[in-house]
Amino acid sequence: MKAIVVHEFGPPNVMKYEDVPTPDPGEGEVLVRVGAVSVNRNFDVNARAGNSAHGATLPLIMGVDPSGEITAVGSGVDENRIGEHVNIRGMARCGKCDNCKQGKRCSLSRPIGITAPGGYAEYIVVPDFQARTIPSSIPFADATVICRHAAAAFSETYTSELKAGEWALVMGAAGALASFLVQFAKLKGAHVIAAAGGEDRLEAARDLGADYTVNYRTQNLAEEVMKITDNHGVDVVFENIGDPDLWPGAWDSLAMNGRLITVGFHGGGVVPLDVKKLHMRRLKVLSSVMDAGSKDVVGDCLQLAAEGKIRPLIGKKLPLAEAAEGHRLVEEGGVVGKLILEP
Ligand SMILES: [Zn+2]
Repeated sequence: MKAIVVHEFGPPNVMKYEDVPTPDPGEGEVLVRVGAVSVNRNFDVNARAGNSAHGATLPLIMGVDPSGEITAVGSGVDENRIGEHVNIRGMARCGKCDNCKQGKRCSLSRPIGITAPGGYAEYIVVPDFQARTIPSSIPFADATVICRHAAAAFSETYTSELKAGEWALVMGAAGALASFLVQFAKLKGAHVIAAAGGEDRLEAARDLGADYTVNYRTQNLAEEVMKITDNHGVDVVFENIGDPDLWPGAWDSLAMNGRLITVGFHGGGVVPLDVKKLHMRRLKVLSSVMDAGSKDVVGDCLQLAAEGKIRPLIGKKLPLAEAAEGHRLVEEGGVVGKLILEP
């Protein structure tokens, strides 16, 4: 089969499109024909460059979030799974091993694309519990993005206690997480202001349902928000950037009893906090990992996608052979939305 293999860490051109043996599923494993996999800035770009916090094993077949179809199963796996559409989760839990029983990282789960062979390949073998069933009506590319990013947006929306009729401001609105926040806020019945640093990004946010847009690189964010909301301000800011230059505009946009929620810090993570405003306006700063008032957040998100209520923002699709070009584009920030590779 064809796969993208990294033999040495470095720039995008260390990724080689090669012939490698097609893996066989062993006991408790499934073979998946990959339909789509994303270029993930945190995991993939760092793994290729040798900066992965998780370490990476060379030679490495990359790709942390493939979706595809089960084409064969090993012994001990229900043969009815053949033909199932699945998304592969790198950190799934078997629920049976000693580690799982003690609440630690599952000892059978393999972190694909980091230390185990990943999804930048025509086929991948994983333990069957790592292959999550997805509705066959959802394209593989969409499922890959939804399973990775929608759940975090779902839980953030839940934690923010955003209500119908309230105002929401979504920062970095064309990002992988924020593009779902725009949609979940609209589903809640909120008025949504999308903020981003480029016109193409604002247009993408409008396509996803944002009611108003502000370019925070060329406009005064808080001033524009106050104009749009008739001086009310927004009840919720979905921040997720942690940029000291952008934070004050987001903070000053909050209404009385406003909530700022953030789970991201790629903008640096250390920001000025106006404590006077925090106190006088009775503001809250919140974070959220996966508390969402639901047992199966990813399943709920897939259901919403199957019903056409949410969709991923996909900016570009490339054949797997062009993975290096995909990495270059993602690193330059030249794609609005996710970049998908298709074997
Ligand atoms: Zn386990």
